[in-house]
Amino acid sequence: MAVNQTPLFSRIRDIFDQGFTVDWISTIYVSLTHLIALIGAPFAFYYAPSELTPVIIGWIAIYFVFGGVSITAYCHRLITHQAANDISLPVHLFFGFVGQVLAMQGHIIRWSSNHVLHHGADKSGKHLLDPYSATWFPSTWQNFIWSHTIAHLINHPDSEEKDRAIAAKEKVKILRIQRRLYVPLIVLWVYITPFSVGYFLTGTLAGGLGLLAASLVGMILVQHNTWTVNSITHMWGFTRGLHSSALNNYLWLGPLGEGNHHADHHDCQTDYRNGFGWTGWLLDPTRYLLLSLRGLGLVKGLRSASKHVESEIIAQRRLRELETKSPSPLWSLWEQKLISAKADWLEKTRQWEQYCQQVKKLKKMSLPDFELQQRIEKLKAEIQQAKVNMQEARMSFFDTLSAYKQDMA
Ligand SMILES: [Zn+2]
Ligand SMILES: [Zn+2]
Repeated sequence: MAVNQTPLFSRIRDIFDQGFTVDWISTIYVSLTHLIALIGAPFAFYYAPSELTPVIIGWIAIYFVFGGVSITAYCHRLITHQAANDISLPVHLFFGFVGQVLAMQGHIIRWSSNHVLHHGADKSGKHLLDPYSATWFPSTWQNFIWSHTIAHLINHPDSEEKDRAIAAKEKVKILRIQRRLYVPLIVLWVYITPFSVGYFLTGTLAGGLGLLAASLVGMILVQHNTWTVNSITHMWGFTRGLHSSALNNYLWLGPLGEGNHHADHHDCQTDYRNGFGWTGWLLDPTRYLLLSLRGLGLVKGLRSASKHVESEIIAQRRLRELETKSPSPLWSLWEQKLISAKADWLEKTRQWEQYCQQVKKLKKMSLPDFELQQRIEKLKAEIQQAKVNMQEARMSFFDTLSAYKQDMA
């Protein structure tokens, strides 16, 4: 279970005493689509003309990946967390008006404002406002079933925070248009298009129904893909020194990378990447999509945490981990040393970043090539020295940590 949180309820049905109500439309829709996908789809595939089989398999795969990245890259990182300064119209249309609709998790304003509340609960400590918390109940199965499915079938009580989160997203005109068109878009992309393509390719009703059933299978796969981030990555994983409700996983390869470093994401929400260091590069395929979109000029100004912020989060986690483990007299002896080592590392990182910023600024100035090279050349030695200082200070911080651990042993 996630760290530092006590359960709010003893049974799931206790939520109804707090003003929660069943969202019957979502409950019936999700139940029916799951039933049809699990029981009806195998029959539809069996009776569909055999030449349609590769199309059915291909459509399920495309649906799953396209719906998944539209949630993780577009709806989550670009829209909810504003990981880019500028998002072009084709990106909105492709991912927002097609892919996000295929994912069937509510229109963008609803999805995004709920997710803002999910992160806000960590900061404010108001965990009752989290739309899919994995910490409300005493047992693992209750938390899993709530965060993974039931939370999405329930109307949560209104709150000022909820109104504010919705109002912030409503400021964006294209999101208001998507909300207005959401139901017609569902009918078009999830139902009419696959049915028509299946019917057109085979000339039979069974062909149309076969591809329609493939849509429903793709839909529930995408839904469980996203819900896994809400449930699993808030319940199991690396816990040392973390303070958010999320956890990090270094082996889990699910949800298109969103779940692997979920604690890093909770600590650094506006970062277009999910995960620090080399494991972030390895386990976060969504960032490659965002970098490709930037390369094509379709999004501009991707935001990422500065080295200074990243180092601060890492150092803070290490200190918090030791503080909780340590007998208090020993901690008070070492605390100041560790805090100074951390401050020194962060200061040296800040200095190195300042030099890098200077070079960036110079490159943006319209200087003649010769003058630009000369000025950069002058800074080179100082940058190199600043980098060495930063690396030494980092090493010194970790050496101090090791010395402390030895003292504890
Ligand atoms: Zn989360
Ligand atoms: Zn998030």
